[in-house]
Amino acid sequence: MDVRPVSEGRSKAVLCLPSGKGSVVRGGNALSEQDAKPPEDGSPVNRQSFGSMDSAAGDSEFLERLEAVWERIDRDELIRFTRDLVCIPSVFCPTNPEGNEARTARYVADYLKEKGFEVRVEEVSPGRPNVWALWRGDHPGKTLLFEGHTDVVTEGRAGEWSYPPFGAELVGSRIYGRGSCDTKGNLAAAVMAVRAIKDSGVPFAGRLLLCHPVDEEGMMSGIKHFIRQGHAEGVDGAVICEPEENQLCVAQKGAMRVEVTVLGKMAHGAMPGSGVNPVTRAARFVVAVEALEREEISRHGEDPFLGYPSITPTIMLGPESGEPQINVIPASAYVALDIRTVPNQSHEEIVARLEECLADLGAEDPDFEADLEVIEERPPTETDMNDPLVQAMTAAYTHLTGESPRYNGVPGATDGTFLHAWASIPIVTTGAGDRTIPHHEDEWVDVDELLTTCRLYAATAMHFCRDES
Ligand SMILES: [Zn+2]
Repeated sequence: MDVRPVSEGRSKAVLCLPSGKGSVVRGGNALSEQDAKPPEDGSPVNRQSFGSMDSAAGDSEFLERLEAVWERIDRDELIRFTRDLVCIPSVFCPTNPEGNEARTARYVADYLKEKGFEVRVEEVSPGRPNVWALWRGDHPGKTLLFEGHTDVVTEGRAGEWSYPPFGAELVGSRIYGRGSCDTKGNLAAAVMAVRAIKDSGVPFAGRLLLCHPVDEEGMMSGIKHFIRQGHAEGVDGAVICEPEENQLCVAQKGAMRVEVTVLGKMAHGAMPGSGVNPVTRAARFVVAVEALEREEISRHGEDPFLGYPSITPTIMLGPESGEPQINVIPASAYVALDIRTVPNQSHEEIVARLEECLADLGAEDPDFEADLEVIEERPPTETDMNDPLVQAMTAAYTHLTGESPRYNGVPGATDGTFLHAWASIPIVTTGAGDRTIPHHEDEWVDVDELLTTCRLYAATAMHFCRDES
């Protein structure tokens, strides 16, 4: 993202950040014409009266505090911390004792402890610890959570990379390596943002929670554990730190994984009448699913951020297990469905419709027998555009860049899905990184974009927890 300098006298209050150092240009209307003007006599703004004085002076002082926080963000430290994290592999591999998030979690925990945070490390399963840290401002207020997972996906074929996947090489303005974009860079940006607020010593009403769970790329057991332990209680909003090109993603698709086993009766392929063929019956189910998908699309239409819902058969096996043989009708067949949903779609209703499909097929054919199981469910999420978190992020983004943010949706689920669905926390997903780069070879993040993310996180916290009393 580009942060443009804006000349003074424009009708907008814009913060110019051309190359790492923050400065405030106070010009007028975004805050109101008189807001940002220093007192006529040049006297300093009265810090003691913040909160009780009129909103104009309050805005001016708020901007000074925000600038003080931004000045605390150290670009080199952000780069160093990101690179250190990328250098520690955290691919989960159950057959490798080192194949987990433990070292990355320890590194984050040690860093935060050294910087004076209250840190907790909690093992979710052997070798897989969540890390979280709490910082309290000087007076009570809202609680904002920054969430960024510690695990990364496999590097795949390391020989195919142009740079070593765990080398964290800095080439031009890019850091290359697995997790640089998804999401260790953004994890680092969140840590540096909270640290900057803490170290700046600005008055702060509220609490900031850094949450770095394991297993986001798997079953999301880390965030589930964090919520089950009660740590998400009292959280008023959560920033999900993921590579979204610093777009503000206010919606996330839901997901359901469904397995269907169609039962048959084994027989010789030359004598099909003596058996019951589960393969043709599974195929009928797949065709019925296609029709159901069309119905769901016509009922719900296209979501402005998330596109269309889908019901996709991804696996079809016959036999369900064991060696297939061309002259043998198998005993059972298997179909897996990857279902992606948009807000307003009901997962219960979709399961009921799938069961109805099976019941209809059974009514047409007395030999049709099938079992359906939902093996994973991740509800869709939507955060209201008027929610204080969206409003705070919008204000933060506009202050930072002088432009309106671009809003979008996340096509897959994230840890935020569970913070929203299980703990009713409003979420916005944003961070640095090309949206198409995660899980690719030669994954990279641009350090200037990452610096913008760090400032955006810090400004969001300042706006969200702004004391309006
Ligand atoms: Zn991620």
